[in-house]
Amino acid sequence: QEDDFKKVISHAKEYGYVFQSSEIYDGLSAVYDYGQNGAALKNNIKEYWWKAMVQLHGNIVGIDSAILMHPTTWKASGHVDAFNDPLIDNKDSKKRYRADVLIEDHVAKIEAKIDKEVAKASKRFGDAFDKEQFLATNPRVVEYQEQACSILKRMGKSLENEDLADVKSLIEELGIGCPLSGSKNWTDVKQFNLMFGTKLGASSENAMDLYLRPETAQGIFVNFLNVQKTGRMKIPFGIAQIGKAFRNEIVARQFIFRQREFEQMEMQFFIRPGSQREWYEKWKEDRIKWHWSLGMGKDNYRFHDHDKLAHYADAAADIEFKFPFGFKELEGIHSRTDFDLGNHEKYSSKKLQYFDPELNESYVPYVVETSIGVDRMFLAVFSNSLQEEDLGNGTTRTVLKLPAVLAPTKAAVFPLVKKDGLPELAHGIVEDLKWDFNVLYDEKDAVGRRYRRQDAAGTPFCITVDHQTLEDGTVTVRHRDTMEQQRVPKENVKRIIAQEVDM
Ligand code: ATP
Repeated sequence: QEDDFKKVISHAKEYGYVFQSSEIYDGLSAVYDYGQNGAALKNNIKEYWWKAMVQLHGNIVGIDSAILMHPTTWKASGHVDAFNDPLIDNKDSKKRYRADVLIEDHVAKIEAKIDKEVAKASKRFGDAFDKEQFLATNPRVVEYQEQACSILKRMGKSLENEDLADVKSLIEELGIGCPLSGSKNWTDVKQFNLMFGTKLGASSENAMDLYLRPETAQGIFVNFLNVQKTGRMKIPFGIAQIGKAFRNEIVARQFIFRQREFEQMEMQFFIRPGSQREWYEKWKEDRIKWHWSLGMGKDNYRFHDHDKLAHYADAAADIEFKFPFGFKELEGIHSRTDFDLGNHEKYSSKKLQYFDPELNESYVPYVVETSIGVDRMFLAVFSNSLQEEDLGNGTTRTVLKLPAVLAPTKAAVFPLVKKDGLPELAHGIVEDLKWDFNVLYDEKDAVGRRYRRQDAAGTPFCITVDHQTLEDGTVTVRHRDTMEQQRVPKENVKRIIAQEVDM
């Protein structure tokens, strides 16, 4: 697993997808840059989301609010008081950790033991193996499950009650050591606010303390009435936005999964109070279908319903994806009640209400939100697509099977050889296609090498011009995933590509 993940990271670099930020200065931890292919993949992910959420919904509109907001925003939203992670330092190694992550890692080790038992039993019993039954009845596995469950429950309770001393006791009782040195010499657990602070204004006396936004949602809430009035929106309606968010994450690892600067795609759906359960279920269903539509395998997704709720929510679920390091949160769906608008009313003393003509009354709307990280979606798509394929004759190929709709380059056009007018013909095809798709021209190396290069870069089609093209105007279209080649009139190429890449 770890090796697979290392391959993902090095492939992302080698093919111009993701670079460590400021690499020539040895990088900045948990900050990344997207290269020529990465930027294109990221844009395509955003477009795929925007089309599904905004363009296809008559009652959802999109905005673009500022990263810097009035500081009271973050008092009202609860982020100043409650956007914290519990930190613990190891006294010997002087390294800092998130206490909840240390405990979760410990639980993951117990879960790995369960997986091992399952694998052993499945091997022993073969076809007759019933996993569900095994999990429910094998005494050792049942004990592991109970252990894992009770640890997570106790942690959840202690964090909820802000009982940080108990979080420390739990770490000590479980005998958790520092991941680097193994040392079990821990400090007390402290809360650490994740927001990045900055200053507005030139002189230090009258500078105003600001935060870089830790989520895009608040830009939507503070504009709720502006959009509702100018767009003449009727409840239920949604406001969507894509933009950067910043969090001073402590456990910054797992590549672009958890970054300090990242992008979110969020949608706040404003509804009548009391209808939140229905809309929450509806958005859970809609969002999982959006993920499935990319064809990356339904088994790679699962819901995780939260027992422990954030300060603003009355129901919450994650859509988890099977990343190379296991199932982890990809998207959150939250029923936020009137928490945000209600608090902004309080702090701003402005009415943030909607007059419902059908009910003939005014109220603060309830909100169901869907929130997904662009970068996490990128990692999901990229890691799932990267495959090492055995071609059967002792050779393998590395292929990046990106959903065609998201691929940075849709087609590469090759002349078979660099003479006889073939390059000119190939350039002509590029000129024709480039108005509709991102395409590239390549004439370097043998054509087989060129195919492999595009396989690894994720390009779904290769178009090759050869001597027959001179005679009858046909070209070969090679499909990345099947490696099949078809001979078609060059006028048909556009339609063939469009069939697969159009949303
Ligand atoms: P986590 O539990 O992983 O820290 P979260 O529950 O704090 O995430 P939310 O506040 O619900 O996350 O944010 C919504 C989405 O934003 C997440 O589902 C994730 O896709 C993305 N996201 C959150 N934090 C980060 C980060 N540091 N780097 C990249 N993406 C992030």
